[in-house]
Amino acid sequence: MKPFKFLWICLDMHGCPNRCLHCWLGHGANSHMGEDDLRFMAETFRPFAKELKISSWYREPDFSDNYRQLWNLENALSTKKTKPHDELMSIWRAARDPGYVPWLAQLGLKKCQLSLFGGEALTDKYTGRRGAYQDILRSIELLKKNGIAPRLQAFVNQETIGEMSHIDELISFYNIEYAFAHQGTCVPKLYDLWPTLATLEQMPPKLTAYSLKHWNVKSLNEIFGKPEAKLYQKFCDSNDTKSFVTDKPVFFIDRNWDVHPNISAPEAHWRMGNLRHDNAQAVIERYLNNSSPAQAVRHNKPLSEIVHACGNPDGQGLFGQSDYIEYMLDRFCERES
Ligand code: SF4
Repeated sequence: MKPFKFLWICLDMHGCPNRCLHCWLGHGANSHMGEDDLRFMAETFRPFAKELKISSWYREPDFSDNYRQLWNLENALSTKKTKPHDELMSIWRAARDPGYVPWLAQLGLKKCQLSLFGGEALTDKYTGRRGAYQDILRSIELLKKNGIAPRLQAFVNQETIGEMSHIDELISFYNIEYAFAHQGTCVPKLYDLWPTLATLEQMPPKLTAYSLKHWNVKSLNEIFGKPEAKLYQKFCDSNDTKSFVTDKPVFFIDRNWDVHPNISAPEAHWRMGNLRHDNAQAVIERYLNNSSPAQAVRHNKPLSEIVHACGNPDGQGLFGQSDYIEYMLDRFCERES
């Protein structure tokens, strides 16, 4: 078997303090895995990749109290580094652990992302945790004090758009350099609230200008995509099929050792195997052969069949093309299971 050029494997060692409404990574129980589990995962996959990157999380970074040891271990087990700390952080930890943000600064972090849904009530509601908004404000202050630029990520839908002017106020108040908006990944419970063209007309000026700069585009439509009805029309006669296989995949491994590719969501229909029951070679072969149920559907069924079964020909929600196909694929696989 030819080794991957680059393989990034992430183990959900400790879970997440949040329960976001838009979460596509799953709300499974928080786990308590040990350093030997991370070593086992890395060594199991090492023979199958020229370059390897190991992460001890794929939900909340640094949620574990031994985050510094885990960071050191990730680096020791990896052959390739990407951006410092992936420009991500735990706002939960920043608000509770005085040494955390100075530690991020020591790592050389220059920018870090924080997610908002509007003001306090909406951000707490969408993050699934009371106090999340106050933790974000505290994190912005701590990042600035430690020379790290906060980058605000605003999630826009028909409910949150009413509070996007609050993001403009935060940009001014904290003299924020980086911010951007998008709709995130659609999950069924948010489908009816998905942003439409009418939603975009309500975007406030600063967040609009920052978003265009962030995405290097000229219009919000280029960020948010097209109404579902247009995409449905485009794909309803399409014979397109696709392999998701690349030579630089990212794999997510959950607390039960189920392995999923980082495509759409780590749902059962993407499962490629289980590391306690299958060896890494068997898991990789399923990936390479498009054998997980969702990979097999996309690889073998014409897109028209998937979209006919699950799409809404009148839908006005905005989707990027590949996001829409993956949303349709997930719904199709759920129906089939
Ligand atoms: S922080 Fe990320 S992983 Fe945690 S609930 Fe929210 S979206 Fe999901």
